[in-house]
Amino acid sequence: MSELAVGNADTDEEEHPHPWPHIESMFTLVKVRKNSYIMRCLLCLPKQTDISAFKNSTSNLRKHVARIHPNKLAKYTDLLENHRKLDATAAGGAANETYKRLSRSAFAKCHALWNKTSRSTMAHETVERECKLQFLRPNQTRWSSLFLAVERIVRIHREQGEQAIRNVCTALKIKM
Ligand SMILES: [Zn+2]
Repeated sequence: MSELAVGNADTDEEEHPHPWPHIESMFTLVKVRKNSYIMRCLLCLPKQTDISAFKNSTSNLRKHVARIHPNKLAKYTDLLENHRKLDATAAGGAANETYKRLSRSAFAKCHALWNKTSRSTMAHETVERECKLQFLRPNQTRWSSLFLAVERIVRIHREQGEQAIRNVCTALKIKM
C-alpha cells in the first residue's frame, strides 16, 4: 500500500523542513512519523491525497505520480535527476578540493626532502643509513624525472617503512 488517508492532519512544516526540497513543487510535508513522512500531493489538489513515504526512499511518491499523474512523471524524474547531478557535482568538487590540498602538502614535503637530502654529506649519509637508497632529485625540465623521484620515495616508503622517512625528516629538521 502506497497511499494512506491521514484525515485532517495539520501540517508540521514549520517544525520539520521538507525532507526532499527538490520535489517540493509536487509534494509537501504533512506529518513526520517514526520511519516515514506523510506527504501531500500538490498535483491532486484540491483533492487531498496523502502518501506515506519511507524516510530513506521517495519511491512511493514516484509510484503515485506514475499511476495518477503519468503526464508529470517526466518532470518528476527530471527533478530527481537534477538533484542527483547537483549532489554528485558537489561531492566531486569537495573531493577535488581535498585532492588539491593533499597534493600541495605532499609535494611540499617531497620538495623539502629532495632539497635537504641533496645538500650535504651528512644528509647523504643519513639517507644511506635509513633508506638504503638515495632520493632522486627531480630536475626542472623533465616531467618523467618528477615521476621517478616520487616513485623512489614510494619505494623507500614501501621497503624501509614510514619510520625510515620519519628518521630522515627528523635528522634533517624537515617538518612532517
Ligand atoms: Zn497526486
